Amino acid sequence: MTQRATAGPAKGWEYVIGLEVHTELKTRSKLFCGCPNAFGEEPNTSICPVCLGLPGSLPVMNAQAVDFAIRVGLALNATVQRSQFHRKNYFYPDMPKDYQISQYDVPINANGYLELPSGRVIGIERAHLEEDTGKLVHRGGHGRIESAAYSLIDYNRSGVPLLEIVSAPDIRDPEEAKEYVTELRAILVAVGASDGRMEEGSLRVDANVSVRPIGEATFRTRVEIKNLNSLRSLVRALTFEGHRQVQLYENGEAMIQQTRFWDEERSLTGALRLKEEANDYRYFPEPDLPPVAPDVELIEERRTELPELPSARRGSIAMILPELSADLRETIIADACWPYFRSAVDAGITPARAAARCANELTALLPDIGVLAPERFVEVLAIEDRGDLGASQVKILLREAASDPTPVKELVTKLGFTARDEDAMKAMVEEVVIRFPDEWGRYLGGDEKVAGFLLGQVMRQHGRQISGAGARQALLALADEARSGAE
Ligand code: ADP
Ligand code: MG
Ligand code: ZN
Repeated sequence: MTQRATAGPAKGWEYVIGLEVHTELKTRSKLFCGCPNAFGEEPNTSICPVCLGLPGSLPVMNAQAVDFAIRVGLALNATVQRSQFHRKNYFYPDMPKDYQISQYDVPINANGYLELPSGRVIGIERAHLEEDTGKLVHRGGHGRIESAAYSLIDYNRSGVPLLEIVSAPDIRDPEEAKEYVTELRAILVAVGASDGRMEEGSLRVDANVSVRPIGEATFRTRVEIKNLNSLRSLVRALTFEGHRQVQLYENGEAMIQQTRFWDEERSLTGALRLKEEANDYRYFPEPDLPPVAPDVELIEERRTELPELPSARRGSIAMILPELSADLRETIIADACWPYFRSAVDAGITPARAAARCANELTALLPDIGVLAPERFVEVLAIEDRGDLGASQVKILLREAASDPTPVKELVTKLGFTARDEDAMKAMVEEVVIRFPDEWGRYLGGDEKVAGFLLGQVMRQHGRQISGAGARQALLALADEARSGAE
């Protein structure tokens, strides 16, 4: 494992962090019923007897959810295996059955890993399927249950498919926890399993954290901070909690394993409950669902279908453009840019140009790239690569090509950009040559410095229609003609 300069919670101490990331899978319907898996509907409208836990209703496994789980497992280098659902029993009003159908000792994905941009490798213990709960909204007080006057419940989310991805305790500081979630989110989005929207709750993080003196080989008692739903909260909560724990140890107080919440407004974690033990949940196999047994052929098919993942993208870009800064590299490997960069490079566009146009012009158009599909993007860059249009024209052209579906070639004409019509260009240069006979004479006499002046005149008048490179070629051609005519 690559070494990392970690920022500890205090001098001589280090963090030990393991994350449980719950991601809602982007299926059309819920995990065990046909209700739509939608966000933002009227409360309690996407519900049925199954996801309301009514007696006599039976769960039916959603194949698309299994498929997504497999893709994620493969992308995380995990072993995809035959798995079993269990009932996890506990009482809470957001869970109508009083048990959650989840996977316990035999998850669908086990023993994977993920590589961070820093090169550090974080182990993945498992990634298992489970159903989401409904949503409680506490009204009055601080919006927390203790101070609320009353609570409302929305069961639309009840039964939405979740994949819980549990990391090994390999993360060593809050910033690295952020990097891990960012990377994991990129992978989830790349394989199409999640929309990755943290602000809509499609990615929620429980963070386990303990601290230990640097050099100590064993782990100490951990605290689990529940429901962190932004990267900022994640970093802040972990930092606060690390300091709190070091304080406790330094005051000689006992650490208890517990579940805590993060209060963003007051910037502190508070005790929620003592940590449950597995036996508190009285797990037992779900009798209404057979084991999920994906066949080997399907798994191998999914493996071959995996898209190029962020770490592989980083690898290719390091080969193509080794001198690119880390920031630019991360911009370009993002899902919004990568297909454009890939297509451009595959089509033989100068990589540095493809990178610059992706990082600047393309990202400026986001999030609405309109009709600028990768093929159109490549067409425009090819024109620039040939020197037929100049940089400033290309920038305008890219913007227009996003909002105007006209084929690129016609768009060039429509914008009044003459993509190298040699005769027209020669005429423009000729016009300038006639206006500045002295300069022209000096240029023909071998004074190269006047070229800049002459070209400057051409560009001042026609810069919108022609490229500098094109004008220079026309000037050279004209000079050749003049010289051979004089012989
Ligand atoms: P639980 O069901 O109790 O939440 P899980 O197995 O789902 O347990 O998750 C345990 C998480 O805690 C994992 O992410 C693991 O890496 C992390 N973890 C385990 N021990 C420690 C520790 N001592 N300090 C910090 N994190 C830990
Ligand atoms: Mg857990
Ligand atoms: Zn339902």
